[in-house]
Amino acid sequence: MASHIEACPFCGTEHNHISHNMMTFFVVCQRCSSSGPRRRKVDIAIQDWNQLSTSQQQSKHITNKTQHIKVLLSQLNQLEREVKNVLANSKR
Ligand SMILES: [Zn+2]
Repeated sequence: MASHIEACPFCGTEHNHISHNMMTFFVVCQRCSSSGPRRRKVDIAIQDWNQLSTSQQQSKHITNKTQHIKVLLSQLNQLEREVKNVLANSKR
């Protein structure tokens, strides 16, 4: 049974609790009051919330990588300009 509740995918807090309403369970964030998918079983509600949290973290990770690549590319462009300058100067 999955009992560990992952951090809130929206605000990152770990202060989440399980709530229930009309025979369904769902995880609710105590900071931003986001709620996870409503499920008949508490384990499934936690499992689906955790999945939401994981996929959010993965997309954040990809965004960080993309930004890193952009920085590297601009450094590469700068380096290329410098090399061209050096080459142009050495011909004189
Ligand atoms: Zn939250």
